[in-house]
Amino acid sequence: MRVLVVEDDPMIGEAVVAGLAADGYAVDWVRDGRSAELSMGTHRYSLVLLDIGLPVQDGIDVLKTMRARKDDVPVLIMTARDTVADRIKGLDAGADDYLVKPFDLDELSARVRALLRRAAGRAEPLIERGALTLNPATHEVRLHGGSVDVSAREFALLLALAERAGSIVSRSQLEEKLYGWNEAVGSNAIEVHVHNLRRKLGESIIRNVRGLGYTLD
Ligand code: CA
Repeated sequence: MRVLVVEDDPMIGEAVVAGLAADGYAVDWVRDGRSAELSMGTHRYSLVLLDIGLPVQDGIDVLKTMRARKDDVPVLIMTARDTVADRIKGLDAGADDYLVKPFDLDELSARVRALLRRAAGRAEPLIERGALTLNPATHEVRLHGGSVDVSAREFALLLALAERAGSIVSRSQLEEKLYGWNEAVGSNAIEVHVHNLRRKLGESIIRNVRGLGYTLD
């Protein structure tokens, strides 16, 4: 899952980015509305965390522009202005949820999970695919009921495949979901994660469709 953080405050930005990265998301961080527009033009994000008080272009304007071009990516607004009027303005401009600063990073994590779950059309917190169960809140993986230890990246890869079970996900789509801009991606990074997952979950769990990508069997 790739997340865009739009925040001009360096301390809040760093904390939010570190928190999301620890949860296994690929995170891109920009500090103004114009850069946010450019990023959204070149990448497909699963979620946008948007500060309202931004330099040059207000967060509400960024949001209105997104919704005007029919961009339906979930948006969580972060506002320092603790007034009801601002929150109403944000929600009415198309935000899906909001947090008032200062907020707790655990609450941010939970709200992000809830928004991603809703965007994927799920209400239940667990994802079940055959013998496999994934818990996005705890990164727990169960196979036939037994717990299997996986890394944050391995979990992210498995989740990306499970969210689109039955269809083929290409290597570049997986790289886009797993890695942010300033992370070096080795040419065989995805293959290595798939190899490790097969070792832990069995050879047959992830199928390689030659030249096209991967699918969950
Ligand atoms: Ca700000």
